[in-house]
Amino acid sequence: MISQDFLDILRCPLRPSDTRLRLLADHLECERCALRFPIKDGFPILVVEEAQLPAGCESTSQLPCQKQATATPAQE
Ligand SMILES: [Zn+2]
Repeated sequence: MISQDFLDILRCPLRPSDTRLRLLADHLECERCALRFPIKDGFPILVVEEAQLPAGCESTSQLPCQKQATATPAQE
């Protein structure tokens, strides 16, 4: 199982500075870009290539985490 303490330190690899992941039934989901990371043998696989894109998204370059990471940072 993934503890809350462990969950608190996990970040979306596309935008590690200020993202949080939330634990769903059998995967983790980025709160910002909704990228879904699988959990294998109790460990989250925080690898973009292994992650599942949200519905309607064809590329990680379309994700908000990726866009804001490569565009001008800290506008919020
Ligand atoms: Zn993200």
